[in-house]
Amino acid sequence: MFRFIFLFIFTVTALSSIANTKNDTLSTENAQSFEAFLDDIRTKAHVQGVSKATLDRAFIGLTLNPKVIKYDRNQAEFSLNFWRYITSRVSNNRLEKGKIKLKENQILLDTVYQKYGVPPSVLVAFWGLETNYGRHVGKMNLVRSLATLSFDLRRRAFFTRELLALLKLIDEGKLPHDIEGSWAGAMGNTQFMPSNVAAYAIDADNDGKLDLWGSKADIFHSSSHFLKRIGWRRGEKWGHEVVIPPDFDPTSATLKIKKSIKKWQEAGVRNTKGEDLPISSLKASLILPMGFEGPAFLVYRNFHAILRWNRSLLYALSVGHLSDKLLNNQTLVAEPITEPSLNRDNVIFIQTTLNNLGFDTGQPDGISGPKTRHATRQFQQSVGLPVDGYVGYQLLQQLKTP
Ligand code: CA
Repeated sequence: MFRFIFLFIFTVTALSSIANTKNDTLSTENAQSFEAFLDDIRTKAHVQGVSKATLDRAFIGLTLNPKVIKYDRNQAEFSLNFWRYITSRVSNNRLEKGKIKLKENQILLDTVYQKYGVPPSVLVAFWGLETNYGRHVGKMNLVRSLATLSFDLRRRAFFTRELLALLKLIDEGKLPHDIEGSWAGAMGNTQFMPSNVAAYAIDADNDGKLDLWGSKADIFHSSSHFLKRIGWRRGEKWGHEVVIPPDFDPTSATLKIKKSIKKWQEAGVRNTKGEDLPISSLKASLILPMGFEGPAFLVYRNFHAILRWNRSLLYALSVGHLSDKLLNNQTLVAEPITEPSLNRDNVIFIQTTLNNLGFDTGQPDGISGPKTRHATRQFQQSVGLPVDGYVGYQLLQQLKTP
């Protein structure tokens, strides 16, 4: 979890070509050597109570892992649009396997639901999306991955905290010193970062070990405990698909704006059968992941809990959609839109052009985050286009045509 950009798939590009791009600060530009950096970490960890013996064992012969830097730099090469993302992540294979997992683990999943309020279908959806139900938990040395990401300058503070959390867990005997995980520092069936292991993992089967690899009890209890603590509420839906009228003004369709269901009903929003929205006291946001011509969703508080697990909107929609499919084969009614996905250069072009036009996207980085979407809205408003903030193929074409 908290792998950063689920929106993106990996492509392999030579490191040398990446070193030339403006925004990628390679760790080799550090004034410090990796060894000197590890000495600093050693001092910090020691101050926090980690024993010398643990540090010696974890750091012996430890070298920078260039593969980790390469994966980190390449994750943003392409940003998939909603349909491409949802089709690849919520595949038939993942759905059918998930149904089997639901059945196989029914008793344990029900126990966990009673305790934390996270429905079996939701928990299994996370499990399927994170590691394909435990098949891809990561086989890289986790100390090495996190030491590399900490040494690198891109997100040093975040990864240093995670590295220190991992060293403490090893020192306390909760994890072995040669623990394995993903290149991005996550571990186990639902990809916990070390700080989340420390704060939320539970030895639910009481065997004295936190086993997020082999113990279903530990995995399900820990993940549901975490979800509950980041805001998942029992008995509430994450959200659902809706339809909007053709003349709908998308300006208010943003996560930040929350309205009563009654207000959305008054604005012409209906359920997927065209009927009135359910009566509910919950506030909802309307989101349009492919702009005003694409699918529409009303999302509630539990959607924000999913976003605290992983901040990608498309990831959160995938969790919701897969869980609905697992529960009752619910499909989407919106017609798929076929449009090319944007690559990193396309997004950088959009960001640079918007900046030049006076709409601030920040430093162009090829990732369309909240700032880019906000600038897009301002641009759309200024030229009289529907204000949906969608950073997609049409926007690219509009900005290419002066
Ligand atoms: Ca255990």
